[in-house]
Amino acid sequence: MHERGMLIVLSGPSGVGKGTVRQAMLQDDFRDFQYSVSMTTRKPRPGEKDGIDYYFRTKEQFEQEIADGQMLEYAKYVDNYYGTPLKYVNQTLDAGRDVLLEIEVKGAMQVRAKCPDGVFIFLTPPDLVALKHRLVGRGTDDIATINKRIQQAAQEIKMMENYDYAVVNDEVPLAVKRIERIIESEHLRVPRV
Ligand code: 5GP
Repeated sequence: MHERGMLIVLSGPSGVGKGTVRQAMLQDDFRDFQYSVSMTTRKPRPGEKDGIDYYFRTKEQFEQEIADGQMLEYAKYVDNYYGTPLKYVNQTLDAGRDVLLEIEVKGAMQVRAKCPDGVFIFLTPPDLVALKHRLVGRGTDDIATINKRIQQAAQEIKMMENYDYAVVNDEVPLAVKRIERIIESEHLRVPRV
């Protein structure tokens, strides 16, 4: 009989570097968790692969998954759906393995309501200006989309108080180390009865 795994939720504004931090965590020696691949209706960016970066689905397919109760959480973000398939998360936690989600804040709050035992980590940019530079520098979005993302980010930063931990993403390897320490510490908690 395994002890149930721990659900680790990494969230924060888009452009803060969640994806980069997540990828660095997946490549790190520390790695002792499974990553839950999200589903989205957004089009793949160059180099992104179905089933690895996301499950790329049509709006109709995504809405069917919602109707069938197959999503742990989902949100509409900049005109697309993003969500976490429920089955993989449950199976992996039941098998005693930790699961990492990397999701935006509305979805994270849905998970918080459903899984209060999860560990909720908010990744923050050093400041909003740096966030804008990063979005522009990434060169994957047009200016209207960037401005939408910035507005969204300003609101998201206010959401920080709903999380257990705040990690500044000033440098990716440092942010990764901080998150790994959080995970280690959480595993050392004395169980409450
Ligand atoms: P992008 O289009 O840049 O890959 O992602 C846009 C936003 O969607 C990011 O903030 C990312 O963290 C978030 N996201 C990715 N997967 C999920 C998911 O499964 N659920 C939710 N709620 N947000 C997600």
